Amino acid sequence: MKALVLKEYGRFSYEDVDMPKPGKDDVLIRVKACAICGSDVHGMDGSTGRRIPPIVMGHETSGVIESVGENVTKFKPGDRVTVDSTIYCGECGYCLRGEFNLCDNRKVLGVSCSDYRLNGAFAEYIAVPQRIVYRLPDNVSFEQATVIEPLAIALHAVKRSGASLNNTAVVVGAGMIGLLIIQLLKTAGCSRIIAVDKAREKLVMAEKFGADVCLLSDTVNLYEKILAASSDKGADIAFLPESEYVAVCGRNISKVNEFAEKYNVKGYTSIEDMAAKSGVEAVVVCTPHPVHAESAIPALRAGLHVLVEKPLSTSLADCDAMIKEAEENGVILGGICQRRFYTPVQGCY
Ligand SMILES: [Zn+2]
Ligand SMILES: [Zn+2]
Repeated sequence: MKALVLKEYGRFSYEDVDMPKPGKDDVLIRVKACAICGSDVHGMDGSTGRRIPPIVMGHETSGVIESVGENVTKFKPGDRVTVDSTIYCGECGYCLRGEFNLCDNRKVLGVSCSDYRLNGAFAEYIAVPQRIVYRLPDNVSFEQATVIEPLAIALHAVKRSGASLNNTAVVVGAGMIGLLIIQLLKTAGCSRIIAVDKAREKLVMAEKFGADVCLLSDTVNLYEKILAASSDKGADIAFLPESEYVAVCGRNISKVNEFAEKYNVKGYTSIEDMAAKSGVEAVVVCTPHPVHAESAIPALRAGLHVLVEKPLSTSLADCDAMIKEAEENGVILGGICQRRFYTPVQGCY
């Protein structure tokens, strides 16, 4: 069969490759359409390290079932389908709780990293387990169906946010997922949606899809403008994109160097140093031990906004000290909990 193979970063070749070999629980799908994800773009140039060549990329896809393995009961040849891009094991603790996106053994279609290589759907055929396959209604075209995977991501984010009637929401980043989130928030009954992006043309799209207030991210006093747009109450919910590293800081010099090299950024061993020299305005403090205050307090004192990951592993006294420091320095202190470690707790101190 033919496939588009990433031969080296930034170079593709359309060439003959071996057909995938479906197992007993797999279906063989003749690909009809495949979208290009932002992660493909950032993988193709080597910046994420998650498309190590050679690899056939592509995970937002749809097609027709060509054949099925002997254990497959839910599908038959000729069925029109789309797939979940995450191939989960179905057996680990996360999978048993229905949290397939966190599966300990997950592999993503069209991704190659240090742990695995799994060819994707920029090809004539893919073979995937039946548990990640979904049938398409007749009135959904193959091209439309490629957006179901990113739409599911946006829907999951909106469901987890608990968005409800009359909420005010901030959506930072009006790219593909942000625009889908805006439409879903509108459907969920949010009364005020504030979109923030650095590109004016993205905000034009955001407005078209339902944003009530659009703000350029380099606007002076953005924080005050968001407050004003939410009747001085602040937003009920906010959606933030995955951020890019500008600089890294840590105590372990070899780890710092490793990260700095990987993300092509400057590395520091002192927060004061980083605050003075790197131009960062905000930091995420993430430590595996309950020592957030040790990192957060110097950062707050240096005038940086601080987001503390997993604040529940910090003592109340440390929380108090961090809050006091944030107030004294006029900076924002926030807390997030990763679902992987704790039940969802979101909010600001
Ligand atoms: Zn994607
Ligand atoms: Zn699993």
